[in-house]
Amino acid sequence: PAINNSVVPRREATYHPPAAEDNYPWSKDVRRMLTQVFNLTDFRRHQLEAINTTLRGEDVFVLMPTGGGKSLCYQLPATMQQGRYGDKQCRIGVTVVVSPLLSLMQDQVDHLKQRGIPADLLGSHVGQEERRAVYNGLSGIMPSLQLVYVTPELIQRSGAFQNTLQRLFDNDRLARFVIDEAHCVSQWGHDFRPDYKLLGNLKSTYPGIPIIALTATANERVQQDLMANLNITGCKVFKQSFNRPNLKYEIITDCTRRAARLQDIKDFISTRYRNKCGIIYCVSKKLCEDVAAVLRDDFGFRTTHYHAGMTQEERTDAQQKWQCGEYQVIVATIAFGMGIDKPDVRFVIHYSIPSSIEGYYQETGRAGRDGLLATCRLYYSYADTKTHEALIDNGDGGFHQKKCQRDNLNSMMQYCANKVDCRRKQVLAYFGEAFDPALCKEPTCDNCINNQGKVAYDKDVTADSRSLIQLCHDVCTSRTSGCDAEKITLIQLVEAFRGINRKAFVDRGYTMLQSFGSGKHTTKTDATRMAHHLQAQGYLHAYTEPNYVGFNTTYVTLGQKSDRLLSGQDVIIMREVTGSVS
Ligand code: ADP
Ligand code: MG
Ligand code: ZN
Repeated sequence: PAINNSVVPRREATYHPPAAEDNYPWSKDVRRMLTQVFNLTDFRRHQLEAINTTLRGEDVFVLMPTGGGKSLCYQLPATMQQGRYGDKQCRIGVTVVVSPLLSLMQDQVDHLKQRGIPADLLGSHVGQEERRAVYNGLSGIMPSLQLVYVTPELIQRSGAFQNTLQRLFDNDRLARFVIDEAHCVSQWGHDFRPDYKLLGNLKSTYPGIPIIALTATANERVQQDLMANLNITGCKVFKQSFNRPNLKYEIITDCTRRAARLQDIKDFISTRYRNKCGIIYCVSKKLCEDVAAVLRDDFGFRTTHYHAGMTQEERTDAQQKWQCGEYQVIVATIAFGMGIDKPDVRFVIHYSIPSSIEGYYQETGRAGRDGLLATCRLYYSYADTKTHEALIDNGDGGFHQKKCQRDNLNSMMQYCANKVDCRRKQVLAYFGEAFDPALCKEPTCDNCINNQGKVAYDKDVTADSRSLIQLCHDVCTSRTSGCDAEKITLIQLVEAFRGINRKAFVDRGYTMLQSFGSGKHTTKTDATRMAHHLQAQGYLHAYTEPNYVGFNTTYVTLGQKSDRLLSGQDVIIMREVTGSVS
């Protein structure tokens, strides 16, 4: 079918805040700042609400997808410098913005200065001279700076800065703390920073100073955790839908081999996004460089790579040349991401499965920030998940962290393998947001396209699932012959389930087990899908170990929930689609 990539004009949905939000004594000034300083005509959803809340002096938590306009929620209040409005009080003074990345901070400060807003930043890289100027701007009864951007490390470690904060506080010139990219506070997030967690003491050290936390994370657990860590539980929360209506989602499952995958990427870019700009995410530094080389040398795309193994200069250079269009494609690890503000990214390709839905959402979210159509294409093969299994098992995370990582991977696998439900519905459901698939159109996702006119239904596969898990149980507890009898890969498990005759199965005594061949009636495809489903659901557990020649092999064993299935407590349902209804 013809794919329509025609560019639709950005429709800035006209949003009218509730009338009450324009009835504050400072409302006229807020509107004046919006138009005169920020050169904008109206607020987007929740912006004015968040601004009024922080001006009143209350804590507020703002959740908006990337590109949603979070900055305005604290930058505009920072420019308000009239304190008294009759009997009402509006918070004024210096706004302290905590931000995780120097490049992000610099970018924001440059923008603010261009608008004539007195703003600056402090960080370890700032020279003596400049630092003194910033401290000057923070001193006195009426400090000249309206915003100061700092790293979390600085707040925790710099005595000079802490003294300055204390003085501002004593003079009632500390307007508010802004915690940007606030998901860094939570260990559940994909980007945890230990120094961010310590920001929890701001509330006790500077009592009464309002906090405004902002993030694009859609994960409910991270949201709860970060509010708790910042000691702002119970604050006003402004949460927007995380649907990105201009992004098209597609998962490609039939390019398992490297050559096919690269060829498909070539065709995809040259037929659908010729000369348009995009990102390709790869799991390793080596893969990044290899894929970039093929795209550049064999396919002739203007391509560069980006990963944490490069020097800071090389990275900045690659990013800038991609940002300005000198490179069309950047092939990167997840090191590339935070702080990229390129509006016209037309495609984000995941060369293989990302490690979590959270990460997938963030990475795909870098596409289409200008509101125009963009495509998110992911290549999935079960074999790729083994790379992640190995990374988790060989990583230095503790037991708890490894379990989280595995859960995250499992959810991502389920997403990839689910060819029935609307992609938006699946992603948003993961974040606890309901989405009506009828609204998935223009652009629509691959599942909604492929399943048009078909009926989805739930198939009960409990009996077969139980047999498979029983077999796994029997195998893993049988130690009759050879010390490795209990180690089985998922492929072997499926084959033994289907009763395939292999010498190894005879040698290990599998064929003697009652449960051997209990899935004789199933097809390879169905049994494999079911096994993947059971792994993703936590009934099977995958783990990695070096085999006798030293290569990592991924085996399966009983998952945490296997008891529940074997004892008959759990029912296993898989979503399927029928043929055409008409
Ligand atoms: P976020 O931090 O949520 O990712 P930003 O604050 O960087 O997003 O804003 C993204 C873009 O949206 C910027 O180009 C900004 O100028 C624009 N923007 C923000 N608020 C508005 C508004 N009320 N009207 C129009 N454009 C806006
Ligand atoms: Mg931002
Ligand atoms: Zn859909």
